Amino acid sequence: MAFDECSDPNDHEYSKLAMERTHRWAEICVKAKRRGDQALFGIVQGGVQPDLRAASAEFIASLDTPGIAIGGLSVGETKEEMHAMLDVVTPLLPENKPRYLMGVGTPEDLINGVLRGVDIFDCVLPTRLARHHSAFSLEGRLNLMNASFARDERPIDEACDCYTCRTFTRAYIRHLIVAKELLAGTLLSIHNLRALIRLMEQIRIDVADGVFEEKAPLLLEQWSNNAQRELMRDTE
Ligand SMILES: [Zn+2]
Repeated sequence: MAFDECSDPNDHEYSKLAMERTHRWAEICVKAKRRGDQALFGIVQGGVQPDLRAASAEFIASLDTPGIAIGGLSVGETKEEMHAMLDVVTPLLPENKPRYLMGVGTPEDLINGVLRGVDIFDCVLPTRLARHHSAFSLEGRLNLMNASFARDERPIDEACDCYTCRTFTRAYIRHLIVAKELLAGTLLSIHNLRALIRLMEQIRIDVADGVFEEKAPLLLEQWSNNAQRELMRDTE
């Protein structure tokens, strides 16, 4: 990734300075690049300012890097603002190069990102949730610390093919958490990463079959309020 500066998204004046600095750095990075085994991506910045985002998308696209990253989103702005910025940026990017939305995100964010033309994501969420004993599931996020799992002999997700789900019960993972055994975080990370990868595998199949846009509302409904559903269960 080229250097970039992530600004306060609502500060237009500073976002413009940060965007211009990001563009200068991108040019320097392209000139400095020597190794043939790396794919240098430029990064689009511009806060939640449509004019800056459009200017940045056009400038970074003009550098002809192998792929293009969209930075400075998922930094505290609303989901509506993030979607609005993607709607400004992605139509201005070349169609034959991967677009990478940095630091995103939840299952819903992945679905909404692909709907807007994004190809690549990265996020700490699967491992961060694992450290907090939480697992992705279509039932809503499961907090394995919850006493209701103490004698639950099922895997986290019956339909999941990950090592954790094929090997261990919810009750055993809860036991590890209660015993403060770090293996709990490892097993939950394996499951959470696999859950997102399985979602993306399904999305790739749907895109290839030309049915993703049609199926996306159902996928979004399945994953909607996944986080809130955990809170509801914990207060039951
Ligand atoms: Zn699993």
